[in-house]
Amino acid sequence: MSKKVLVLGEVREGSLRNVSFEAIAAAKQIADGGEIVGVLIGDSVAGVANELVAYGADRVVTVEHPHLKSYTSDGFSQAFMAVVGEESPEAIVFGHTALGKDLSPKIASKLQAGLVSDVTEIEGAGDGAVFIRPIYSGKAFEKVKVKDGIVFVTIRPNNIAPLAKDAGRSGDVSSLAVDITNLRTIIKEVVRKSAEGVDLSEAKVVVAGGRGVKSEEGFEPLKELANVLGGAVGASRGACDAEYCDYSLQIGQTGKVVTPDLYIAAGISGAIQHLAGMSNSKVIVAINKDPEANIFKVADYGIVGDLFEVVPMLIEEFKAL
Ligand code: FAD
Repeated sequence: MSKKVLVLGEVREGSLRNVSFEAIAAAKQIADGGEIVGVLIGDSVAGVANELVAYGADRVVTVEHPHLKSYTSDGFSQAFMAVVGEESPEAIVFGHTALGKDLSPKIASKLQAGLVSDVTEIEGAGDGAVFIRPIYSGKAFEKVKVKDGIVFVTIRPNNIAPLAKDAGRSGDVSSLAVDITNLRTIIKEVVRKSAEGVDLSEAKVVVAGGRGVKSEEGFEPLKELANVLGGAVGASRGACDAEYCDYSLQIGQTGKVVTPDLYIAAGISGAIQHLAGMSNSKVIVAINKDPEANIFKVADYGIVGDLFEVVPMLIEEFKAL
């Protein structure tokens, strides 16, 4: 049976995050010919609605309110539940992002819906859809089928390919007026720590450094390599704990989960908690001077050597391409 699916589009600083388009592709499979309704929540988000349509949404509903300028679970859940009330969807798709991870359980509990989180692949379509998600820190995968009720999934960024953009598609964009009341928190100001570089959780290339980088300055060649490859810099917790870089770069069980096309690990031993955050990367290159390092077990290409010699060579080679 075909389904009406709501897809939450995530807007950051006026632009839609890629995961929103990936969520539409997932929704298409779940909808199995049913309608896909994009949902945009914020203070001024209608401007990107047509982009959701270009990537496959049939129409878009926006909820705009000054109190929705920054994300709060209170405000966004009021807005999203109002859309659910209007639309009565049979399925919902969010990105498995910081926002999606925070908001989805709240919405699921309000709807008494099961939640299949962190989905990396979908087999089949409609009622027959089977959701594949990693478990035990990525050591195994489980297949989940939703028996009844609303199908609610969050999808891991960079795993489900978006549909091709078609700027010629058209779809209705409507706004829903929601009185956002009784908020327990209102964000007055957001102060970004750093505005530089590509978003780590959506980057196609990640160059990550570990304790082997040895200092804050030691990260400079990694930043340059990331820059040359159009990627983002990440780190192990070892490097963060040693104060070589900020915790916002930490990848792993207690950090960010990334699945780039290319993951370069430099001076990282490959502890299980680190692997939990990157082992699903499409191609893994490890640079380590210890040939026995655990990271080589998950690497597609291993370079045994000193990262301070290897990384500058890679920079030169990639620059020359
Ligand atoms: P090390 O283990 O010290 O490895 C450094 C590596 O650098 C070594 O393999 C060494 O051979 C190599 N090296 C040194 N010098 C050079 C050089 N010049 N050139 C090339 N190679 C060199 N860790 C995470 O990363 N992410 C997490 O989310 C995370 N969560 C955790 C949660 C819990 C509950 C616990 C207990 C631990 C967690 N950890 C996490 C920590 C994890 O167990 C490891 O301690 C950590 O990943 C080690 O970081 P590292 O590989 O950078 O350092």
